[in-house]
Amino acid sequence: MALSVLDLFSIGIGPSSSHTVGPMRAAKQFTDGLESSGQLAATVRVQAELFGSLGATGRGHGSDKAVVLGLQGKAPETVDTSTADDQVAAAALDAELRIGGHHRVDFNWDEDLVLHRRKSLPAHPNGMTFRALDHAGEVLHERSYYSIGGGFVVDGDASGSDKVVADSTVLPYPFTTADELLAICAREGMSISDVMLANELVWRSEAELRERLLQIWAVMRECVDNGCAAEGFLPGGLNVRRRAPSLFKTLTADTGVTDPLRAMEWVNLFALAVNEENAAGGRIVTAPTNGAAGIVPAVLHYYTKFVPGADDDGVVRFLLAAAAVGILFKINASISGAEVGCQGEVGSACSMAAAGLCEVLGGTPEQVENAAEVGIEHNLGLTCDPVGGLVQIPCIERNAIASVKAINASRLALHGDGSHKVSLDKAIKTMRETGADMKSKYKETSRGGLAVNVVEC
Ligand code: SF4
Repeated sequence: MALSVLDLFSIGIGPSSSHTVGPMRAAKQFTDGLESSGQLAATVRVQAELFGSLGATGRGHGSDKAVVLGLQGKAPETVDTSTADDQVAAAALDAELRIGGHHRVDFNWDEDLVLHRRKSLPAHPNGMTFRALDHAGEVLHERSYYSIGGGFVVDGDASGSDKVVADSTVLPYPFTTADELLAICAREGMSISDVMLANELVWRSEAELRERLLQIWAVMRECVDNGCAAEGFLPGGLNVRRRAPSLFKTLTADTGVTDPLRAMEWVNLFALAVNEENAAGGRIVTAPTNGAAGIVPAVLHYYTKFVPGADDDGVVRFLLAAAAVGILFKINASISGAEVGCQGEVGSACSMAAAGLCEVLGGTPEQVENAAEVGIEHNLGLTCDPVGGLVQIPCIERNAIASVKAINASRLALHGDGSHKVSLDKAIKTMRETGADMKSKYKETSRGGLAVNVVEC
């Protein structure tokens, strides 16, 4: 399977790639299917069932709202995030949906949208089933989907996450392991971003790719700006106050401060701003997931703000190198918190950001691989236990900590010659096996860890 940098970084909506973006895409795919098969006109009722982790934390992660929006033809890339909640509230109030944006059906929120807290579908923890019924109550069409992390969706015919993206494009420099990637770099005299770029040109021109990546960077910057400007509390009932606005005011007011750790506080700010926007359901770049969406932007902001000579070319190379590492996680382990815990989300993002920064700071391919390995090694075993099923505690702060860790990993690697004991491939294998051993209560179900030890108020 061939994966693009644009599979790892996509524009979407908060708060969760697997629980919001994925279900919205799946619901839209289902209604698009009804339309293209000519079954929409006969449809008088649509039902959705969410299973596993989607059922357990779906409400806190906005999965139910995402399904309603997707059934009404909205896509995560283009849905108006400022009116999304109003659109959902109107559907609930009027007890109706406009399937595909135009075909009216009655909709009873309690009966037609069921979240199963203890039932799962067989192939993945994030399963969902959609059903269209006719006037007689007969099933016209039924389909199951899995949201397998990072906004990726597969339909029920796929037997597992390894079948996910069936793009069989032949790449000039295919790689499935870090060792293979390093061998290509050595043989061809290329950097990791060079290899990624050469592969990307199979799908689109360099000019188009550059434009798309800089658009992604623009959305990341806008997200930070929005997070710094917003005030108040995050939705969901945990009464978590946004911290980015006050930190932003402090940092911009104290221009004469000579604290050597000031740059670290800016990095904290960038990550907090993104993840608070994510928690509020704002416009987000999935990188590679929403829960971990603050890390790559925070480290990229660090690069552009604090590294002399930083420019758009560097931003593009950063994203390409980071994506090369993200691909390794995606195909050899998982980027889904429901599958392997938070090590798959924050751990993968930390590793990707470390690689991206090391690349633009002049690291050799071996040093970049070393940075990526340090980035994941010290996130191994990280559990997913979001309090109240919301992507707030520990998620927001965790992104800030991991962003600083990614910068540290990059700098550690740059002080070496790229040789090290634990390879990135071994660390990724360890992450996959640790995730497999992890109890499901630590995998985005909110049934363990902080989620049960922190009193919601
Ligand atoms: S704890 Fe980590 S994996 Fe779980 S929801 Fe938060 S960011 Fe995502």
